[in-house]
Amino acid sequence: MNNKTIDGQRKQKVASETMAATDKVLGAAKQFISFVNKCPSPFHAVDEVKKLLVAAGYKELRETDPWAIQPLDKYFLTRNQSTIIAFAVGGNFKPGNGFSIVGAHTDSPCLKVKPKSKTNKSGYAMVGVECYGGGIWHTWFDRDLTVGGRVLVKNNGSIEHHLVHIQKPILRVPHIAIHLMRDHNEKFGPNKESQVCPVLATSVQLELQGNKQEDDKKPEGQEKQCDKHQPALVKLICDELNISPDQMMDFELCVADTQPAAIGGALDEFIFAPRLDNLLNAYTAVEALIETDGSLKSDPNIRLICLFDNEEVGSQSAQGAASTLQELVLRRLSSGGSQTAFEEAIPKSYMISADQAHAVHPNYSDKHETNHQAGLHKGIVLKFNSNQRYATTAITTTILREIALKSGCPLQDFVVRNDSPCGSTIGPIMSAKLGIPTIDIGAPQLSMHSIREMCCTSSVSQAICLYKGFFEKYPEVFSSLKF
Ligand SMILES: [Zn+2]
Repeated sequence: MNNKTIDGQRKQKVASETMAATDKVLGAAKQFISFVNKCPSPFHAVDEVKKLLVAAGYKELRETDPWAIQPLDKYFLTRNQSTIIAFAVGGNFKPGNGFSIVGAHTDSPCLKVKPKSKTNKSGYAMVGVECYGGGIWHTWFDRDLTVGGRVLVKNNGSIEHHLVHIQKPILRVPHIAIHLMRDHNEKFGPNKESQVCPVLATSVQLELQGNKQEDDKKPEGQEKQCDKHQPALVKLICDELNISPDQMMDFELCVADTQPAAIGGALDEFIFAPRLDNLLNAYTAVEALIETDGSLKSDPNIRLICLFDNEEVGSQSAQGAASTLQELVLRRLSSGGSQTAFEEAIPKSYMISADQAHAVHPNYSDKHETNHQAGLHKGIVLKFNSNQRYATTAITTTILREIALKSGCPLQDFVVRNDSPCGSTIGPIMSAKLGIPTIDIGAPQLSMHSIREMCCTSSVSQAICLYKGFFEKYPEVFSSLKF
């Protein structure tokens, strides 16, 4: 074979390897997209995670039951149906051994239907909403919206929990025309109470179709749950669940975009999707847990994924990261050993607080610190903040860098500018509460907290790769620490 032929073959090999890598990256991104499309609310996210776990042989545990945990057991539990903790017990686990944890959150900023949402203005039937979390609310204007969430249903004396996701655009928050607001492009700042209220129908059409438009409210205490909302909205929900309005006890509904997530860009390299923050990490954490099943046998630790609700509003709730849930679970998993098994386990443990990170923005690059501009495709981002908005330390960084090196996962560093505000995560909350060494990381993205965010396709496989590497290699790297 001459040199030219060898060169040609080498090029072909590299090309086919790149193709295979691209296919893998795209395949993982598409699977994530299908997950995110099914999750308009934290309740849906928990339900979809549950389905993935059950298919992989995980069983449900209840907080109300006694537990008897054995090596190689695989379980999950939920709280409020919006937080889920899943764990796989290493084959060599004994109480007092460590916990390898990936934590993320199930909630995202959104509009939520108010407890009494029926609102009628200027001949429109509207739905009163609360602003949940720190959304970029102007991005919710002129989108084709729907609702998804949970409904508590009375059924022959029992009370059931049902999920609902109306699969068509039923709501819209219309913009004011530029002719009526000349400085629209300079300073559009909608009033969150009066100007972000979505339209559901017109009174004229409702009347034409025989819907009664009673505006007179029933006296306090006499109105049923269904009377508090637009009858047309109640009907859509009841039809979907096949129940009567009287059976509807209560609901929690998130407003969501109906436009499905998509692969985008001229080179099919972006993901345009709602709720990347933080369903990308919820999804990749569960995938990594499931995909590392084969190495569980030799693991001395328990591997956990903890996906909490209410991060976007500060985590202070019974199902949030600031609750006692995580500690209660870890204590129960440590039982059966010495009296101090839980306390012994804590310093052997490690938590990845996985939440989306800011990629450098091409049109606002001055908002980013010069030496720490995270780029798309360039790897998962380690987040540092000496003021402890992130829990990362030199030790937790060193451990993860070593794991990433052994697993072939690229990493990047991020620090916010001193003259810029900094977000936070469940990382500082949980590390302060439990004392577990923690690192804050995330995949780089743009448009964070917009109704439609943007990241790169590589993020999905890069996050799965890193979390898999973490579950499989953390105990070994931990044992190499000589201090
Ligand atoms: Zn987040």
